[in-house]
Amino acid sequence: MHPVIHWFRRDLRLTDNTALHHAAQSGQPVIPLFIFDERVYKSQRAGAPRMAFMLKALAALDANLRQHGSRLIVRMGRPLEVLQAVITETNAAALYFNVDYTPYARERDAQAQQALPIPVHAYEDALLMPPGSVRTGDGRPYTVYTPFKNNWEKQTKPASQHTTFTHQTFHSGEGLASQGLPTLSDLGFSPTIDVPEASEQAARALLEAFMAQGVKQYSETRNDLPINPYAQGAPRSTSYLSPYLRFGLISPRVCYEAARDAWSSTPSAAYRDSIRTWVSELIWRDFYAHILVAFPHVLTRDFADTYLSLDWRHAPDELQAWQDGLTGYPIVDAPMRQLKAIGWMPNRARMIVASFLTKHLLIHWLEGDRHFMRHLIDGDPASNNGGWQWSAGTGTDAQPYFRIFNPINQSEKFATPAYLRHWIPELASVPDKFIHKPWEAPQPPVDYPPPIVDHGAARERTLRAFKQARGEKVDS
Ligand SMILES: Cc1cc2nc3c(=O)[nH]c(=O)nc-3n(C[C@H](O)[C@H](O)[C@H](O)COP(=O)(O)OP(=O)(O)OC[C@H]3O[C@@H](n4cnc5c(N)ncnc54)[C@H](O)[C@@H]3O)c2cc1C
Repeated sequence: MHPVIHWFRRDLRLTDNTALHHAAQSGQPVIPLFIFDERVYKSQRAGAPRMAFMLKALAALDANLRQHGSRLIVRMGRPLEVLQAVITETNAAALYFNVDYTPYARERDAQAQQALPIPVHAYEDALLMPPGSVRTGDGRPYTVYTPFKNNWEKQTKPASQHTTFTHQTFHSGEGLASQGLPTLSDLGFSPTIDVPEASEQAARALLEAFMAQGVKQYSETRNDLPINPYAQGAPRSTSYLSPYLRFGLISPRVCYEAARDAWSSTPSAAYRDSIRTWVSELIWRDFYAHILVAFPHVLTRDFADTYLSLDWRHAPDELQAWQDGLTGYPIVDAPMRQLKAIGWMPNRARMIVASFLTKHLLIHWLEGDRHFMRHLIDGDPASNNGGWQWSAGTGTDAQPYFRIFNPINQSEKFATPAYLRHWIPELASVPDKFIHKPWEAPQPPVDYPPPIVDHGAARERTLRAFKQARGEKVDS
């Protein structure tokens, strides 16, 4: 019997994997294939932490496949050439994969559809609602979140699929060359941080733990700043599922259905409200992916034209200070150090540091977007771009330009002294009273810098620059 190929990309799981489900349904042995593509792992936006997470996820996928009498076939090279070679070697009858949404992925997949000599079956899988399925009355893509969400909520969501795997489902891998999983250094990366366990099982455990309690308090806890959410016993203020969703270690359908079950099983209006709030984050994830597909230019320039002429500053030393967590504002520096240390940052902190870079330092959002992509284990082109353009005021449904976070107020509201001291040990002896603005302490720490900019002056500078770009009158 001719085998079929399932090409894994950002769907590194067996459970509720749409294309894999259909490949298995074909009744032909499925060759599980992963291709290391230089254009992806050598791109400027690739980062060692995310690559380390992915390598762990691939090892876990391989282990899961072995339980079904198979193994992951790993090849390096240009996807089309590799696919052609595997088809020739195995006489494969069809190719299955789940679609991806970056311009590069779409072009690559279109080429595969055109050039391969066998049927190619592409499925929507990574989102709850696929791009193009949620549109305005006259068929245009939404560019504002709330109407998108209202329409999204009315649509029927695809249900998760249960696939029964047996030892017959997969090709055993016998006689098939696999280059085995490379190390980080094989891929040209230096050793990096410890990343969390990356497997379907770990993702499921996080979801279950969050559904058991965290989700019910989510409305209150979502802005908390945990020190390391992946450490044992960490508080469950949010789900921490972003890297798992990023690499498809869990499907969004399974997450959505778990939320729906939690909603049905509680009569508490407050709990239900929290659960809805959490689901609205999954909708943001869909929204930004839809935006990327409809407006792929967002990856390299502003979504809107309004601020294209904005006079962003070229300030490499300040950019470096921001990247290193040395701006003198603890609420900026703690998360920036957290990002480098653990490859993750809470959402509230992402908004604060992004606002600081773009509004206080007036440095282009693309610099921040790139830095995040190099360090985040959950770095996702659509969500990261959406978050950055929202913060900079240049995106869809963005923060208005005049809303500029006050870093001291944000710190007082959201950061605990323990969080700030953990990531900035220089603040160890600064009393709680001054922890959010250590420069005002009777004895400011000698080894921690004073603020890189004055909040009031930076705010005025930004308002002027944005008004100028809008063609509005600016007071001299
Ligand atoms: C500047 C900036 C950059 C960001 N970059 C990324 C990124 O590269 N990858 C990424 O997954 N998220 C990104 N986000 C969104 C958000 O910060 C993270 O998804 C969230 O912090 C992950 O934590 P969690 O899994 O505990 O989320 P939860 O609060 O538990 O939310 C559940 C899931 O919903 C999705 N989600 C939550 N918030 C958002 C959001 N605002 N936009 C899109 N999806 C969301 C994520 O998949 C998340 O795992 C960014 C936000 C900002 C402001």
